Amino acid sequence: MEIAKSSVIICPQCGGENKIQADERFFECEFCGSAVYVDKRKVVSHFIVNSNFSKEQAEGNLRRWMASNFHVKDLDKNAQITQQNFYYFPLWYFKVINNSEEKIFLQPAHSTPVSEIKSIQIPAGNLKPFTMKDHNADEIVDADVLYESAKNWLQQSGVNTEDISESSLVHVPFYHFYYSYKDKQYSAIVEASSGKVYANLWPLKSEMPFRLMFAAAIVIYALASILSYGLAYLFSGKSFEGVLLIGEGIKLVLYAVAAVPLIAMAYFVAKKV
Ligand SMILES: [Zn+2]
Repeated sequence: MEIAKSSVIICPQCGGENKIQADERFFECEFCGSAVYVDKRKVVSHFIVNSNFSKEQAEGNLRRWMASNFHVKDLDKNAQITQQNFYYFPLWYFKVINNSEEKIFLQPAHSTPVSEIKSIQIPAGNLKPFTMKDHNADEIVDADVLYESAKNWLQQSGVNTEDISESSLVHVPFYHFYYSYKDKQYSAIVEASSGKVYANLWPLKSEMPFRLMFAAAIVIYALASILSYGLAYLFSGKSFEGVLLIGEGIKLVLYAVAAVPLIAMAYFVAKKV
């Protein structure tokens, strides 16, 4: 006969002693009703952030982000969305107080291809106690990074872990989009409480046309210099000062003339790429 193992967990909110099953990870405190998450070593408050965006609105935000200027031209029109998932992603939430200044640090509690999500902002007012019954179980991503590992990462990024005044687990709603562009796969996340887009990689503007243009500019200016001194040598009666003076004068004019097509070309390249 198997005996169910239970253990006593102290609620981080009210200090009440709760008896839970050994394998139980989420529970509600029987005294104050707050949501609690149990790691192997650590008991913390468990919060969830509500989603404010529909799938269509999230995709709209992604397309607008794609259309912004630092991405490859017409990415918003040419990218093919191949897959999209909605889920609540777990993050370890650390409140750190240093010199009476309060800062929030986040560490993913599950592996993710988009490490940029560490930089999301979660207003404290958006944290709601986690309840399993309001959510679809397969939309909740399991926290498989232990609290201690997250704390170690935090320490490695220069935070003194003795300054941690509060830690909790927060599930944040994400629309995760996968898209292809020119046979390559990319992914981006729309954080569904603020609608902000996060990505580590995206199709970049090609640098080749800019490099070619830079090389062309060097050649054009070198030729202009040679031409200026050649002409000055022909017209100046061959005195050193005369060549220098006239040469510099002609160079100034030629440089100004050469700048016109180069600027036009730069404008055209920047528009096109
Ligand atoms: Zn409690």
